[in-house]
Amino acid sequence: MHCSVRNMSTGKTCARLSLAGSLILVASAAAFADSGEVNVYTYREHKLIQPMFDAFTKDTGLKVNVISASSGLEQRIATEGANSPADVLLTVDIGRLQDAVKAGITQPIKSETLDKIVPPQYRDPSGNWYGISMRARIVYASKDRVQQNALTYEDLADPKWKGRICIRSGQYIYNNALFAAYIAHHGEDKAEEWLKGIKANLAQKPSGGDREVARDIASGKCDIGLANTYYWALMENNEPDKKAWAEATKVILATFKDGGTHVNLSGVVLAKHSPNKANAMKLIEWLVGETAQHMYADMNYEYPMRPGVAINPTIAAYGTLKPDTLPLSTIAEKKKAAANAVDKVGFDN
Ligand code: FE
Repeated sequence: MHCSVRNMSTGKTCARLSLAGSLILVASAAAFADSGEVNVYTYREHKLIQPMFDAFTKDTGLKVNVISASSGLEQRIATEGANSPADVLLTVDIGRLQDAVKAGITQPIKSETLDKIVPPQYRDPSGNWYGISMRARIVYASKDRVQQNALTYEDLADPKWKGRICIRSGQYIYNNALFAAYIAHHGEDKAEEWLKGIKANLAQKPSGGDREVARDIASGKCDIGLANTYYWALMENNEPDKKAWAEATKVILATFKDGGTHVNLSGVVLAKHSPNKANAMKLIEWLVGETAQHMYADMNYEYPMRPGVAINPTIAAYGTLKPDTLPLSTIAEKKKAAANAVDKVGFDN
């Protein structure tokens, strides 16, 4: 017997399906599609993202239902299968965007609007993810104890930094992507040497998050460390209890010796079984529009993807960002090798 419909509760292809059963499936899918809503799964902090959805609802009349979690959203959507209410997944980091593709929960986004705004370097060649804002992984340095205002990633392995570097786990997604970019530039052997060099320069075992790099520089435990661009601005402008950590440090837009600064993304995925696809596409295109891009710049302190949208003044004061030109999809291919290299040199031990 021929049967092309999947059983929604088990996810298995059915062996036998009655005509009545087919009609019920069609009817429930139609009810979803006419809902005037869009369902967003996200790892982004609620307080960062909700004002944006409120603005979207004001602009379009479409209601946004948010499911947020700190982990496991790809697996959840995969488990929900064809029944998943997920329309859009909003996430950060090329690692998580790639995880979504690997989990088989994406479908290609087809949008001339997005193709015009998002450079090829910042989107999946097959269209399964698009970057919508950018952050750079750069160096926080002691204002008092570090004189220089320029630095390469390669420099971090120089013995002159012995006992002076703080960093979070080498396996954390932000470091993993930077290390993967290093491999893409220099190859695995040189990357391993470099990681050994940084490890030999560490002031302490990798720990904490990016803010703690600034904290530990402020307290004198170390002099420099790797962190993302937006944390410094958050501490300086939005987190009075951490302002002193920002004030003790300066931001150096590190670059590769023969390249630019490592940039990562916040990005978007269209769910494979999106029940409100037209609404999902409205939201995705809205996210690269003027209103949302100003919010990414001024509330999240990210670099806007849309040309012509001003970078927040605190971020602009770091200096002119010269992004590395490696496509994020190329970097993603080296992620596994980067994780292996971190283990091999015992970076986190
Ligand atoms: Fe972060």
